[in-house]
Amino acid sequence: MSFYTTWEQTSWDDTRLQLYSKNAADVETALSKKHLNTGDFMALLSPAAESYLPLMAERSQQLTRQRFGNTLHLFIPLYLSNLCANDCSYCGFSMSNRLKRKTLSPTEIEQECQAIKAKGFDTLLIVTGEHETKVGIDYFRHALPIIKRYFSYVMFEVQPLATHEYAELRTLGLDAVMVYQETYQAATYAKHHLKGKKRDFRWRLETPDRLGECGIDKIGLGSLIGLEDWRIDSTFTAM
Ligand code: SF4
Repeated sequence: MSFYTTWEQTSWDDTRLQLYSKNAADVETALSKKHLNTGDFMALLSPAAESYLPLMAERSQQLTRQRFGNTLHLFIPLYLSNLCANDCSYCGFSMSNRLKRKTLSPTEIEQECQAIKAKGFDTLLIVTGEHETKVGIDYFRHALPIIKRYFSYVMFEVQPLATHEYAELRTLGLDAVMVYQETYQAATYAKHHLKGKKRDFRWRLETPDRLGECGIDKIGLGSLIGLEDWRIDSTFTAM
């Protein structure tokens, strides 16, 4: 069972109805609890919670301090390639856009790493478009060892990969993966993802499951606010 099963069993419209029927009492109940469930989370995202924002900010600050202390984590992105084999309605890297495409060679990767390292960063976020054949596992298995010579913590924000590919990259030093579903509403997802493998909603939705299976212990999830009702997409992200 993957999150896809949970997603299939959770109606978008019912979630919407539930969230918009939350009232001030639901918000206060959620704020008074130590452990919140999905219903409480929905109350905090509902329009009824608007006047409670200062209280929520206070609670959020307390939890952040308690868990992370007074720390600030800085990272820097490095784009390895702007090649992409998808068409997404909101992105300039879409394959149909005529623009100059560039993929860094091993020497160029090394030069970029040296320049970034000289600025004092030790955490790197690797970003690419989504092009499986030219910037896929074969490219990553050569690029990652170069990058790991310079940075102790490396995160990926590239196309969803298969479990065995994540497992291999983990042995090469991959620490974390960000994968954004964009929207959890299937019809809206289809409307904005017009060509390429990214049209496969389920493949993307099950990516965090595949990451968990091979022991990648930091997984970044998210939706693209603006494609759908942000309250409902945020609820699905939290689930
Ligand atoms: S897959 Fe990513 S890089 Fe490619 S067009 Fe879509 S949003 Fe842009």
